[in-house]
Amino acid sequence: MKTDMKLRSGAVIPHISLSDAAKRNYLTRNLLNRMHLMPVGDPAAFDENEDGSITYFFDPTRVVEAPPELWYAPTQKTETVTLESGVEIPRMSTKRAAACGYYTVERLSQMNYDVIEEPVAYTLRNDKSLIYFYDKKTAVRRPLMCVHCGKDVRYRRKLCRNCFAEDLALRRAEGDLHRGEHYHMQRERVLFFDLELTGVYNHDEILSISITDGNSKIIMDTLVKPVRKKKWKQTEKIHGITPEMVADAPTLDELTPEIKRIFAGADVLVAYGVSTDYSHIKYIYDTEAEREALHKKTRCASIEFVRFQSEHYPDLVHASLSDAMALLEIEWDGVAHTSIADTIGCAKVWEKLFPNYYED
Ligand SMILES: [Zn+2]
Repeated sequence: MKTDMKLRSGAVIPHISLSDAAKRNYLTRNLLNRMHLMPVGDPAAFDENEDGSITYFFDPTRVVEAPPELWYAPTQKTETVTLESGVEIPRMSTKRAAACGYYTVERLSQMNYDVIEEPVAYTLRNDKSLIYFYDKKTAVRRPLMCVHCGKDVRYRRKLCRNCFAEDLALRRAEGDLHRGEHYHMQRERVLFFDLELTGVYNHDEILSISITDGNSKIIMDTLVKPVRKKKWKQTEKIHGITPEMVADAPTLDELTPEIKRIFAGADVLVAYGVSTDYSHIKYIYDTEAEREALHKKTRCASIEFVRFQSEHYPDLVHASLSDAMALLEIEWDGVAHTSIADTIGCAKVWEKLFPNYYED
């Protein structure tokens, strides 16, 4: 016979005899039901019945009054059946049972639970045969199985260790093919860019723009004077751009013709985490069509890096530009988090990921 039992919550409860339970004023479900009470949390102890089923005991200081809809119609005599263990369980509708968290074995099995306790209630089929309900709280959760083979427990991505390894090898092979492809791009028509902003929201403004090409040539590297924001204390700590520094810088409006001219000469525009940069730079264009054309040209270096990392280093999860550069063993040029250093870093990450990207 078991001396203690580990519950799904992680709590371990002792096995005690019925008389010990009575000494401690512990309540069985039977008694709780009669008193219209519900346990709060786990049972305090258990006893094993002769048929192998379990009776739980509940601490009387850890019960609350059950809501009236869970009471068994007080004016009517509650129908009950007595189990072999001597426990009396009430008849209730399937709906009421579900409200109490009681389900049939089949339903619990669908939910991936195994029943170890005795039934706590029942209902009748049309032919008067019994359907038992069991408490989900005391049922045991089965380990989830691999969605691919169904033979082993899950490890990652809903797959078992073996299936995960097979899937990883497949994804890695596909990814390596994608990265190893010859893209025949011209270095001067592949642009890398990065913006520093006053903040992360849509109403925030651009403080600097850096653009380089596939030859590491700096095409633009300028501070930008915001027209609405006067200070940006939070992001200033990161990029170091102060209001004084941008006081005499051109505004985005002033820079727009030049940026449009540069972008027009690009086949591809790459940034690390391009969605943020795009969501701010797109406003240099007035029409949705122009914005969409820009969007089509953009590529995201961080998405490509995350893919590479998940295929080759599935245990690593951090994927900032600094993480990418460290993993790919690339040295910083200049000060990290300035837009020019990030742009140069992004270009290097891109070329490491796509060694055959350019025509030469
Ligand atoms: Zn499997």
